[in-house]
Amino acid sequence: MIGVTVLGATGSIGVNTLDVLARHRDRYRVVALAAHSDVERLAEQCRVFHPELAVLADAAAAEQLRARLRGIDAAIEVLAGAEAVAHAAAHPVAHIVMAAIVGAAGLLPILAAARAGKRILLANKEALVMSGRLFMDEVRAHGAQLLPVDSEHNAIFQCLPAQCHGGLAALGVSKILLTASGGPFRDTPLAELTNVTPAQACAHPNWVMGRKISVDSATMMNKGLEVIEACWLFDTTPEQVQVVLHAESVIHSMVEYIDGSILAQLGSPDMRTPIAHALAWPERIESGVRRLNLFDIATLHFAAPDRARFPCLDLAYQAMERGGTATAVLNAANEVAVQAFLDERITFTSIAAVVEAALSDVPAREAISLERIFEDDAHARAVARESVARISR
Ligand code: NAD
Ligand code: MG
Repeated sequence: MIGVTVLGATGSIGVNTLDVLARHRDRYRVVALAAHSDVERLAEQCRVFHPELAVLADAAAAEQLRARLRGIDAAIEVLAGAEAVAHAAAHPVAHIVMAAIVGAAGLLPILAAARAGKRILLANKEALVMSGRLFMDEVRAHGAQLLPVDSEHNAIFQCLPAQCHGGLAALGVSKILLTASGGPFRDTPLAELTNVTPAQACAHPNWVMGRKISVDSATMMNKGLEVIEACWLFDTTPEQVQVVLHAESVIHSMVEYIDGSILAQLGSPDMRTPIAHALAWPERIESGVRRLNLFDIATLHFAAPDRARFPCLDLAYQAMERGGTATAVLNAANEVAVQAFLDERITFTSIAAVVEAALSDVPAREAISLERIFEDDAHARAVARESVARISR
């Protein structure tokens, strides 16, 4: 039995992960579950999976969970707080850690999993965006394994040879083609973008996801974060990663080789495919995903992204070019801006303005330590909050 810890268990990726695990109870055992504050859902998951440990970052919620579990399974240990989440990530009984906490809150637990030498299934791209080099160094130093769950990166991983040491050039790769659906507003008249609502932004045409990543998909900041993620995961440069608009979300990404071959991974837009792939790799397991019917699809479309419509994509490229802590600044300001949009304090188009202001006000520094990254993250959040306050006044 392979022990699995799920960080962010109550979210979209967490729930999909548990769905796949439930199909393979003879192979996987859930060791620990961690989330922020959703007592109801975590209690239900504990009732079904009986982990050894359940953690809620929010202390009051953890207290409620403790009371609730007394009547369900008193043997489950309940812990509270951010340190307990990191403790769950390093749980000695678990071999695999699904990293599916949203945002910067996921970084410390993932580093704890890396230091404990786990197989990390990486959904949380923000952690890599914040601290790519330090993160990858920790993975290498402790013999941890990093498997991409983000559908595009999982697709790229599937299109690369099994042994991919020595960089992409050594493999004969000429570029990575990162597909993007363009989100719910790809055809909305530009003048109407200021008035779109959080509900519209979260109604993705092809994927059902958490609210933050849904807004990121609508601004295409998500694709910017994913270019950065791809550079770290596959040890490449932004020039080698081409973003391709592909409205159907059937091709999850592609790899082009120097002989002119392009390898693609296709499938229904359902995160259980990359989750099952990363869980079982190099083997394959059933995922519950609906099979793709190519005759129903019949046609696939491709286009270059419209840079004027998606200024967040350019901001991500700017941050990458600046390097160091600039990508942590980008991520932090974006988290603040997206939350302000979801709270209906700023308009959709102001998200890019808030991020741009933080990028120009917070000088990028070399990302020499975690402390420095968190300092610049905090600085960016403060600048972004000021912008939000100014705009929403
Ligand atoms: P979500 O909002 O649905 O779920 C987030 C989870 O994180 C919840 O369980 C929440 O309780 C937990 N969480 C939040 N703050 C926490 C904290 N401080 N401590 C502990 N737990 C905390 O988000 P999601 O859509 O599942 O996305 C999760 C991550 O996966 C994101 O980084 C996202 O970019 C990435 N991702 C998601 C998808 C998708 O299809 N949903 C696809 C690719 C990548
Ligand atoms: Mg993705």
